[in-house]
Amino acid sequence: MPESGSAPITVDEHLALILDRVTELSAYDQPLLETIGLPVFADIVSPVSLPGFDNSAMDGYAVHFRDVAHATTDTPVHLPVVGEIAAGASKVSALQPGTTVRIMTGAPVPPGCNAVVPVESTDNGSTKVLISQAPIEGQHIRRAGEDVTKGDVLLTAGERIDARRIGLLASVGIGRVTTRPRPRVVIMSTGTELVEPGGSLGHGEIFDSNSYLLAAAAKHAGAIAYRVSSTSDDPVAFTEALSDQLVRADVVVTSGGVSKGTHDVVKEALVGLGTVAFHEVAMQPGKPQGFGVVGEDSTPIFTLPGNPVSAYISFELFVVPALRKMMGRTPLNRSLVRAQLTTPVTSIPGRRQFLRGLFEPKIGGSTVTPVGGAGSHLMGGLSRANALIVLGETITSVQAGTDVPVLLLDRDY
Ligand code: AMP
Ligand code: MG
Repeated sequence: MPESGSAPITVDEHLALILDRVTELSAYDQPLLETIGLPVFADIVSPVSLPGFDNSAMDGYAVHFRDVAHATTDTPVHLPVVGEIAAGASKVSALQPGTTVRIMTGAPVPPGCNAVVPVESTDNGSTKVLISQAPIEGQHIRRAGEDVTKGDVLLTAGERIDARRIGLLASVGIGRVTTRPRPRVVIMSTGTELVEPGGSLGHGEIFDSNSYLLAAAAKHAGAIAYRVSSTSDDPVAFTEALSDQLVRADVVVTSGGVSKGTHDVVKEALVGLGTVAFHEVAMQPGKPQGFGVVGEDSTPIFTLPGNPVSAYISFELFVVPALRKMMGRTPLNRSLVRAQLTTPVTSIPGRRQFLRGLFEPKIGGSTVTPVGGAGSHLMGGLSRANALIVLGETITSVQAGTDVPVLLLDRDY
């Protein structure tokens, strides 16, 4: 790992170092609804066919098609109604020619039946029925196996579970799925000046926004977030809080206390361990970064800068890809889209700049407009942004109308 105080490393170098160290979590069986957004670990094969049996697609009358093949409004056909089959009926006897049974949507069609006449084409009779429209052979019968065949591969390893796939898995009777679990992310804020939202501020105090911001971002990335109340700038208190949290953490994310001040609690507490590297990353915002491992289980720890915008952007750039790797999701990195810049911008040479932007998708050319300033304390601006405009290390200014790479913050890749 690079030594503290060495020359800045690039965004890509920092990310590579992280991804090299973070490993996939072991997969296990999880209840179906817990797996939304996670990739399946192995192919899933259907244990049954769908539909499982021939059944009616309509409420109506089960018939022998030939009995009513000539029915019209002028020459309707009378049939005796000899029974009724509801959805869930288990004993269904064969349909005798010249008779009909009432049948409900989803009910098994009786052997011999080769069409269902919908109620709308009848007089809705209960002991005998008048059928005034000839059915097409096989009409309104859902055939066993027409949707899914037993043994079909429903999902291949790596495909992500979504609502539709959950529906499919439930349809074939699968209630648990093997996936890598969601990483448990412990989020810790540091700073003696921090007050829990809802409390009251003394002079010089501010509300702790980072722990909420980062916990929300962790959830959005598919992780489980454990938000911890802020700790003061006392390294002993921070170390104690950290070791208390390690038991439930797959990842720890701290914010604050990693710059060059005199109360840089996170740095002070961790630098002596020798397992966390603190360095500058050539980016703006988010220059001071730290990453390494702590505790008996070598739990990965990200020490993000304290300014809220820096903390958030660092989380999106470095923590999210690591969380994705732990869950087995691909790709690890967000893909960039391109958009036309609406106003000119400037950038600091030698650092990759991430400007907050409002991306507007448009047919024929999406646009992106910088919102808020470059200051990394500007939460108002951040909240109006839905994208980051990425300006490379060699860029110093960009004119309006130029196509620029944009990272969409709300898109799930
Ligand atoms: P630090 O790196 O700890 O010096 O923090 C840099 C700036 O971010 C300071 O202005 C802090 O007050 C602010 N800051 C640090 N942590 C938080 C937090 N959890 N919520 C809001 N602002 C914070
Ligand atoms: Mg601080």
